[in-house]
Amino acid sequence: MSIADNLHRVQERIVRAAESVGRRADEIMLVGVTKYVDAQQAAELVAAGCHNLGESRPQELWKKAGELTAKRAAGFTPAVPMPSIHWHLIGHLQRNKVARTLPLVTLIHSIDSERLLTAINEARTSPNDSGPPTNILLEVNTSGESAKHGLTPNEVEPLLAAATNFPQIAIRGLMTMAALEGGPAIAARNFATLRELRDRLKTNVTGCVQLNELSMGMSDDFEIAIREGSTIVRIGSALWE
Ligand SMILES: *Cc1c(COP(=O)(O)O)cnc(C)c1O
Repeated sequence: MSIADNLHRVQERIVRAAESVGRRADEIMLVGVTKYVDAQQAAELVAAGCHNLGESRPQELWKKAGELTAKRAAGFTPAVPMPSIHWHLIGHLQRNKVARTLPLVTLIHSIDSERLLTAINEARTSPNDSGPPTNILLEVNTSGESAKHGLTPNEVEPLLAAATNFPQIAIRGLMTMAALEGGPAIAARNFATLRELRDRLKTNVTGCVQLNELSMGMSDDFEIAIREGSTIVRIGSALWE
């Protein structure tokens, strides 16, 4: 199977999962996760029509973003079409990597502390910076697995309250990963937890907080996530096998 075939199969599965619960597939963004492949394969995915790419390590995102820009400039084949690539950081961001990451990304999915929000806001408050606010999602640990990053569900509301201090940050929604073990029923419950939390918090948010997005669903569970209301799925392995 080619990368384009894999992409089209995943897109069809997204359509079917959305339709099964009366949703429209165009409400759901596919982020193609490129952490397993090189810039050449990532470029083939973009050429096949997936313009949103995700990396979990900041250094790898910097590297691939640079390589793809260079390849485009060098007349790389297949030609990477415009509109150009939108990068998503889906893994942990360290504060010392904030400044270099912000100019490259469309959305950071994985913010889980006030310290990190403060660092991002500070990086964006230089007098020469008149760009739009940085888009972020708050990562929530809905499975309770100790190996996972993310806020506990109870920590989200206080952090949203603190967000009024960060005018350079736009909080677009929430992100989660389902439990590794436990199968589809547990995954569905983890995703429902995120959606219910969002629905409850959405009633009293204002200003730069909107909470429209739910980033949930990976190769093994994206159909379950879509049935539970996901608006962004982050898919790696299913695109590259
Ligand atoms: C790797 C990764 C994905 C993609 O996982 P697959 O199972 O390969 O689809 C999605 N989200 C995050 C945060 C990841 O680290």
